[in-house]
Amino acid sequence: MAPELRLLGLSSARPGRVCRAVPQSLATARWSAQQGWPVHPLAVGRKTPVGNCDACRRPGHTHSDCRCITEGRWCHGFRAATRDAERIGRWWGSNPGFGVGVSCGPAGLVVIDIDAHQQSLPGRSRLLPGIPIPEQVDLTGLTNGFHTLAVLAALRNAPDPATDGSTLRVRTPSGGLHVWYRAPDARPWQSSAGSGSGRALAWQVDVRAHGGYIIAPGTTTRAGTYTALSPVTSPAVLPTWLAEELERTGHLPQERPARPKPVPPRALQAVAAAGGGRQGAFGVLSSVLAEVTACAAHTEGAGFSEKLNRASYTAGGLVTAGHLTQEQAEQILQDAAAGARPGQDRRAAQIIRSGMTAGSRRPLYLGRYG
Ligand SMILES: [Zn+2]
Ligand SMILES: [Zn+2]
Repeated sequence: MAPELRLLGLSSARPGRVCRAVPQSLATARWSAQQGWPVHPLAVGRKTPVGNCDACRRPGHTHSDCRCITEGRWCHGFRAATRDAERIGRWWGSNPGFGVGVSCGPAGLVVIDIDAHQQSLPGRSRLLPGIPIPEQVDLTGLTNGFHTLAVLAALRNAPDPATDGSTLRVRTPSGGLHVWYRAPDARPWQSSAGSGSGRALAWQVDVRAHGGYIIAPGTTTRAGTYTALSPVTSPAVLPTWLAEELERTGHLPQERPARPKPVPPRALQAVAAAGGGRQGAFGVLSSVLAEVTACAAHTEGAGFSEKLNRASYTAGGLVTAGHLTQEQAEQILQDAAAGARPGQDRRAAQIIRSGMTAGSRRPLYLGRYG
């Protein structure tokens, strides 16, 4: 077996036996740093970082005014992560029981962390945030993150990341799976917890990127060893469809690159002519349209189709509720789409048509708020 695979927890050898002189944890930390990934120590047998020093535990103290990190101590978890050989040798050399955490953001990694926890299902809106799951869809058998991620992939006609044999995948002791990807660009992709109430990709699927860390393969906790699935030992680039889903679900900070182009005057006049409730209708439509027009700042990967679809869905609901006419809505949407993606009128028209048809089944009444 190749030494690298042994490192990643694939060997039957007991931990600590990689080489007579080098403990498994130090070897794992060095290997990770060689991949370009900054590492930080985890408490013995646990998934959490080693604790802070006394000074760093004082109330009110933050990492931003702390000298521990620059002076080579491991306070503040992933913020102390390093690729420095001396520091790594000292930390794990004298504490071979420490686990190895990888700070995902500076490592240029986006890791999809799929959980298989025993948990009762949340409301339908929390299974795949932003994607309505109609009441008639039977959820029997959907019990964990493997299932929600598979459903998302199927909806997008994409391969399930859990079965992606082209990239590093790591089995966790609790039956979960870490699917490691390289970030597709230098933008600060953000972490999330799939079972929390904030941004999320899917229920029981966490995202580890900026602001988060992932346990390196080969690390052993009290629950067991994080083991790479052979034979792929390096991360592939994050698939485009998954990047678009992460963008759709808020895993990039809100950009304000160029100011979104204003909705063309012709469209404004159409809305103004729409009569009662026009302020509300315009407000609702213009906020979703702003996302479409903002796509003009990026030639791809901006989730244009998804945003145009969402705006069309909203417009369909406004039309059914009588806030504007079908023609007015189509004109507004076509203008916005043409501004963001010139020369793609036919594709845009298709998205607008199907989005409006879907939205028209859910009238969007603005009486109370408009
Ligand atoms: Zn400290
Ligand atoms: Zn500190």
